[in-house]
Amino acid sequence: MTSLDQLPLRPELRGRTPYGAPQVPAAHRLNTNENPYPLPAELLADLGAALGHAAVELNRYPDRDAVALRSDLAAYLSRDDVAIAPEQVWAANGSNEVLQQILQAFGGAGRTALGFTPSYSMHPIISAGTGTAWVDGHRRADFTIDAAAAAAQVAELRPAVVFVTSPNNPTGTAVALETIEVLYRATDGVLVVDEAYEEFARAGTPSALTLLPGRPRLVVSRTMSKAFGMAGLRLGYLAADPAVVDALQLVRLPYHLSSLTQAAARTALAHTDALLATVDAVKAQRDRIVAALPGMGLTSVPSDANFVLFGHFADARAAWQALLDRGVLVRDVGLPGWLRVTAGTAEETDAFLTALGEVAPDHRVAEGE
Ligand SMILES: *Cc1c(COP(=O)(O)O)cnc(C)c1O
Repeated sequence: MTSLDQLPLRPELRGRTPYGAPQVPAAHRLNTNENPYPLPAELLADLGAALGHAAVELNRYPDRDAVALRSDLAAYLSRDDVAIAPEQVWAANGSNEVLQQILQAFGGAGRTALGFTPSYSMHPIISAGTGTAWVDGHRRADFTIDAAAAAAQVAELRPAVVFVTSPNNPTGTAVALETIEVLYRATDGVLVVDEAYEEFARAGTPSALTLLPGRPRLVVSRTMSKAFGMAGLRLGYLAADPAVVDALQLVRLPYHLSSLTQAAARTALAHTDALLATVDAVKAQRDRIVAALPGMGLTSVPSDANFVLFGHFADARAAWQALLDRGVLVRDVGLPGWLRVTAGTAEETDAFLTALGEVAPDHRVAEGE
């Protein structure tokens, strides 16, 4: 068998590993932050009809600019006291593709991207894939971003692209808008706020969408993979100045969003209220997990997302395996002492808390030890 080393691979990709959330069989899969609730029956019926309708025209290329879909997404984003126009919205196959297009347009050879780790593991991977150098930004020990220190790092490094994930994955906490403003002022590059989990934020946590007016280098990315419960659809999108959308058209593949994807996403958006009805239930399970941890001698990081980073464990990998042995798959994000669990249904939370209650005594590090 040929090994990668025998291929003329780009040097910056040598020795790298692909994105790898393990897709191992388990009774309770709480490792990739999916929404566990089934799609509403009315939506499924409408999807069947809409896809059948779109299929009639599959001999034709789709709308290259996805105008109707972008208009629906703009209407969705404009629900919360912000006005987003269709020309400000761009969509692609998952927010991962949106982020890739941003790096293709604004990063690339000789340019640098900065992100504050620990954060979303795909940001450095997509940077490498687009030939963009990656630099780890600093966080405090409690995982918050020190705005002044971060701005100083930005001013010194002058990255072409700065990533802020809010709420942050894997830690869960939203970033204050003041921090985002400070970073915007510090950079002459593009500031990307990855808001994949925004719909799960605790009350009083405003979106960076409210900062868009007058900030043409600010980009806010969103996805239908998490709160909308449609990870299999592959639909991500962003809001920004219309000029950013124009820039992305220089690098996107023509007809990148299939007619079936566009039709399915528009149908799902017509059922927004029913789809987002599960968000409160998921948040309640998240808060239940957070509340149960101290009783087991464990702690967590404040969460605005549909997951909780919990610890401390003497050996996170061993605790991960012990939970898996009990049928519960959580995520070892590579942070010493910590694991991440997705908040799902009440039954899933029951199973997780029961398993954790058995595992915690052998694996936890008592506070102060
Ligand atoms: C899950 C996730 C995404 C979603 O990616 P899609 O390609 O839209 O499925 C984006 N950003 C972060 C931080 C995530 O955790």
